[in-house]
Amino acid sequence: MKKNVFLLLIVISFISSTAQTITDIPSMEQKAHEGLYSKSMMSNAINNYDIKYHRCEWEVNPAVLYIKGAITTYFKPTVAGFNQLQFDLTDSLTVDSVKYHSTLLTYLQLPGDILQIAFSSVIPVNTLDSVTVYYKGIPPSSGFGSFHQGTHDTTLHTPVIWTLSEPLGAKDWWPCKQELLDKIDSVDIIVTTPQANRVGSNGLLISETQSGLNKIYHWKTRYQIAAYLVAIGVSNYSVYSNYVPLPGGDSLQVLNYVYPEDSIMAQSMTPDIINTIKFYDSLTIVYPFANEKYGHLEFGWGGGMEHQTMSFVGGFSHYLMAHECAHQWFGDRVTCGSWQDIWLNEGFATYFETLTEERYFHSTFVWQLQQRILNITSIPNGSVLCTDTMNVSRIFDGRLSYWKGCYLLHMLRWKLGDSLFFLALKNYLTDPLLAGGYAKTPDLKAHLENTSGQNLTNFFNEWYYNQGYPSYQLFWNQVGNAVNLTVNQTTSDPSLSFYEMPIPVEFKGIGHDTIIVFNHTFSGQTFNATLTFTVDSVKFDPDIHILSANNTVTGIPDVNALINRITIYPNPVKFDITLSIQLKKTDELTFEMFDVAGKLVYSKQEIIPAGSSVKTIPAEHFANGDYIINIKGSEINYSGKIAKQ
Ligand SMILES: [Zn+2]
Repeated sequence: MKKNVFLLLIVISFISSTAQTITDIPSMEQKAHEGLYSKSMMSNAINNYDIKYHRCEWEVNPAVLYIKGAITTYFKPTVAGFNQLQFDLTDSLTVDSVKYHSTLLTYLQLPGDILQIAFSSVIPVNTLDSVTVYYKGIPPSSGFGSFHQGTHDTTLHTPVIWTLSEPLGAKDWWPCKQELLDKIDSVDIIVTTPQANRVGSNGLLISETQSGLNKIYHWKTRYQIAAYLVAIGVSNYSVYSNYVPLPGGDSLQVLNYVYPEDSIMAQSMTPDIINTIKFYDSLTIVYPFANEKYGHLEFGWGGGMEHQTMSFVGGFSHYLMAHECAHQWFGDRVTCGSWQDIWLNEGFATYFETLTEERYFHSTFVWQLQQRILNITSIPNGSVLCTDTMNVSRIFDGRLSYWKGCYLLHMLRWKLGDSLFFLALKNYLTDPLLAGGYAKTPDLKAHLENTSGQNLTNFFNEWYYNQGYPSYQLFWNQVGNAVNLTVNQTTSDPSLSFYEMPIPVEFKGIGHDTIIVFNHTFSGQTFNATLTFTVDSVKFDPDIHILSANNTVTGIPDVNALINRITIYPNPVKFDITLSIQLKKTDELTFEMFDVAGKLVYSKQEIIPAGSSVKTIPAEHFANGDYIINIKGSEINYSGKIAKQ
């Protein structure tokens, strides 16, 4: 799911404070969610069966806010003594009857949006059975619309109905199991609507049949699907297709259902998805629903929603289409296993959208990363882990679930390298326990670790479970070919004192430019490198691999080479006075010694070379007592006291 953040982001970032303003935009999305789910965030239904199949028969007229439906569900009980079944269904809809084979069952609509169906006898565990729920009514009016009825075309005011169930709005318009536990194995979607309309939905269009003044659209999908990804859009859509070549010579249909008034614009913009899908195919696995289709269905929400095989989009910008398309891999094929893990959907879609920027618009890629960092670090705390799944504004927090999640992946790619990172994602997407099902963060971590051989426990503790970000302070100097670097680190949130990362540092001199990666394991760590050119400048993380802010780089003079220093010993002295001299540059020095009466007892001028040297003054024949030694040069004015014994 995505609000049209990017276009707004560009406009706003040139007006004023970028970071503050960007964070306001996802909050618009969150406010819409809050109205939708203030009543009951999580499913209250008992999970005692495995859902196999839905046949969804709906009657809708886009001019009327109303739905009439018959949902046939095939299921297998998973517990002994199974004699009742619960669906999530709003109590705003009226259940007319529940049919079991040819008999009617008793049912209750319980508080908490539960439809409870009682069977007359126990159905044995693992026995395939079915039940049909007949219902009707006005779906609840909600935020940005789990079931929205409105119009498009400012002149003609053409009616439209569309659905957007994520995360928990499916129950607003059909009886289902909407908790993230059990995907539906396959679905038939059969919609009857006045004949001026077309119906877009998941999977393949099987038939389009005239029935009196109505048309019946039959869609079916044979891929596993989460309840919140089942969707319909009904209006006078114009239809056309784009085609994406697939490896092996086949092609993938991209079926576009667009408003007639936007058809010309859409046809000029949707071909952009062809390169995006080819690019995604090359990064991980081939488009996961290739036996059916991909598609765009235009709807009236200012953003997009990744309904499986048919993303609903409010426009056709590259970024919106790239984001929703990426969800087909991350979100639809492998779905977050709890709302705590929402970043597995949104962080990935945001990152893959960002990867298209790197691939196709490289000149703005670093700028894009900088904008993301500005936003993430505009507040010192917050974790990618969603700590409050009862709070929809937290689940869909743009700063944390989308952008910090995106940056977490960018850093994993940096840490593992491109080939291992993308291989790990491929393994994650093809894991039979996850593909077509649900995943949690430890599942992703296990694949990254198994593929790379790296232990990522610290990484996930730092970047996923804990809060905030690091700031780096670098100090460097160069003596001859030796470059010395000290790297300190502070953190923005007290929950964590240190982030262990490989840090890239760029050294530049005339005609030279080198990046060296240091493994930073503690604050105050010093590193040495040999560089055969004079370093003029040092830059921390020039390509912005690491999520950090307020970094500083300070060149410090080398103590040995650059500070004038004179040390006299021993004191008191018996024979020779030793002068240890360090000079920044070669200089002519005057050495004078006076006794306590002010009498000059020793005087000499001598050229002393830059660097360290030692000079002696024979004092064996001086009378015992105190003496003053003065040493003067162009940058030296030293005076010291010494005793002769
Ligand atoms: Zn999204």
